[in-house]
Amino acid sequence: MQTHTYDVVIVGAGGAGMRAALESSGRARTAVVSKLYPTRSHTGAAQGGMCAALANVEEDNWEWHTFDTVKGGDYLVDQDAAEVMAKEAIDAVLDLERMGLPFNRTPEGKIDQRRFGGHTRNHGEAPVRRSCYAADRTGHMILQTLYQQCVKQDVEFFNEFYVFDVILTGDPRTDPDVRAAGVVAYELATGEIHVIRAKSIVFATGGAGKVYKTTSNAHTLTGDGMAVAYRKGIPLEDMEFFQFHPTGLAGLGILLSEAARGEGGILRNGSGERFMERYAPTIKDLAPRDIVARSMANEVREGRGAGPNKDYVLLDLTHLEPAHIDAKLPDITEFARTYLGVEPYTEPVPVYPTAHYAMGGIPTNITTQVLRNNTDVVPGLFAAGEVACVSVHGSNRLGTNSLLDINVFGKRAGIAAAEYAATAELVDVPEGAHLDVEKELVRIAAGSGTEKVAAIRKDLQESMDLNAQVFRTDESLRQAIKDIDALRERYANVGVSDRGTSYNTELVEAIELGFLIDLAEVVVVGALARKESRGGHFREDFPDRDDTEFMVHTMAYPTSEPGAGEGGSTVRLDYKPVVVTRYQPMERKY
Ligand SMILES: Cc1cc2nc3c(=O)[nH]c(=O)nc-3n(C[C@H](O)[C@H](O)[C@H](O)COP(=O)(O)OP(=O)(O)OC[C@H]3O[C@@H](n4cnc5c(N)ncnc54)[C@H](O)[C@@H]3O)c2cc1C
Repeated sequence: MQTHTYDVVIVGAGGAGMRAALESSGRARTAVVSKLYPTRSHTGAAQGGMCAALANVEEDNWEWHTFDTVKGGDYLVDQDAAEVMAKEAIDAVLDLERMGLPFNRTPEGKIDQRRFGGHTRNHGEAPVRRSCYAADRTGHMILQTLYQQCVKQDVEFFNEFYVFDVILTGDPRTDPDVRAAGVVAYELATGEIHVIRAKSIVFATGGAGKVYKTTSNAHTLTGDGMAVAYRKGIPLEDMEFFQFHPTGLAGLGILLSEAARGEGGILRNGSGERFMERYAPTIKDLAPRDIVARSMANEVREGRGAGPNKDYVLLDLTHLEPAHIDAKLPDITEFARTYLGVEPYTEPVPVYPTAHYAMGGIPTNITTQVLRNNTDVVPGLFAAGEVACVSVHGSNRLGTNSLLDINVFGKRAGIAAAEYAATAELVDVPEGAHLDVEKELVRIAAGSGTEKVAAIRKDLQESMDLNAQVFRTDESLRQAIKDIDALRERYANVGVSDRGTSYNTELVEAIELGFLIDLAEVVVVGALARKESRGGHFREDFPDRDDTEFMVHTMAYPTSEPGAGEGGSTVRLDYKPVVVTRYQPMERKY
């Protein structure tokens, strides 16, 4: 076991982690710990854009952006946080421009902007051009730009180090003096365990899309940071709200950016009808994702799907000029050719909703400090990006608001972590703090378990796709809880065939699977208790939004006793009020 000491340790080298590192490395001794080589982080897969009310192309302002974000999130958004994000968006884009990010330009040389779902002029009148972009490779450009700046600033990286635990001085559920002391990491190349002590710890570990089978997310998005914090007794907020992106390649889940519709693409059902005209008469195909995904699933359920099994709908780009497609959507049209053998110039592309984004996560305040209950923070612990829930996305995130979120709150996290470290004392690491991780690794790697990681993961993902996807019912969610219970028992008997210490990816996948099981249970238990429909969470048995009972954030805690939680689960639920400033909830129509 090795020990290291820093002022600030940032877990995750995606957009949020590196944006934080750029702020903190100049002010405090900072290390970034990442299970992936930084430029392999999922931020690099983001396609469509990052929004800010620059008003470069048409009239716009941050207040309209705040309103759209609140309405898009079906009023579960904390409005103070949304306002911070929309205001700071403009500088966030300009910061990236100054760092050298090659945005697409207008003929006059300004940063160009395009349309995206739910972003409107004057509170819903018509779609507005708010998304800044670099073709359909915006995330790739952001990640590369931030990495270059980190290299320039000599940020220290621990690459291919997996953080499997966070060290706290007490139980955040009961100990008001609990502080963050460090993290425990596993080095992939050697199998060695490292304890990294720090005054400030920033979690920036990204999303958890691998809870589902059909997903746009990379294989590595297993929600590690969320699960690590949760296991220690830190609540997870609003986890039942998962975004299903409308346009995954049918049968595969690989993403075709909403930019395709922003540039004029149209969704059609099996008989060629532009069905979104029926569901969202004003902004049609550019309605927010929850509405479009549900409308698509509904077309298929009512027998109006396309293809031999009528199990998908079509994204039609054939009316766009090939030169326009090549200039604005080069990568995603190539995906259609490569993975489905479809030529988007001349044929519509088969698409179906795919699990895309976790609206929930580790609760934080607007300075990114982690909350241990509805009000109190854990000093020294911060979170930003998809792992966090601040909550700017409420129950449904608008497209291009996440690349924005990671830049705005990543920056805030870096500043807050460095400022805290400037005055705080280093906390002692309790004796044997690394032993839980060591024991679990030994149990799996050296034990006699016979269950295979891939088999349990497949069963988990299939149950989640079947029972907790776009449409949910009491019955389907109870079935998911039963399935997860059984899978947890099988997981207790998991084993790996690779017993080596160098690059044992089978072993780390086993640990990641444990995280997925815990998170799936939190998603499902929260969804079962939320007897209403709002944003990404749609209950067929409770199809309306219920502001009297449920205009609240879900806070999920692990129980100390197995089975002592909601409906015999290991999850205890509590609720937290939503921050409302200017916008009273209204019916959500587009
Ligand atoms: C295909 C796709 C397209 C998208 N397009 C857009 C878009 O156009 N616009 C938009 O706004 N949003 C988009 N999104 C969403 C957006 O890209 C993500 O929400 C955002 O990039 C997440 O950034 P992040 O920094 O929080 O996490 P990530 O970029 O996922 O980075 C996570 C980091 O954490 C590290 N990590 C994870 N677990 C551990 C661990 N246990 N130990 C150590 N390190 C760990 C990883 O190595 C990685 O460096 C898209 C998402 C996908 C999947």
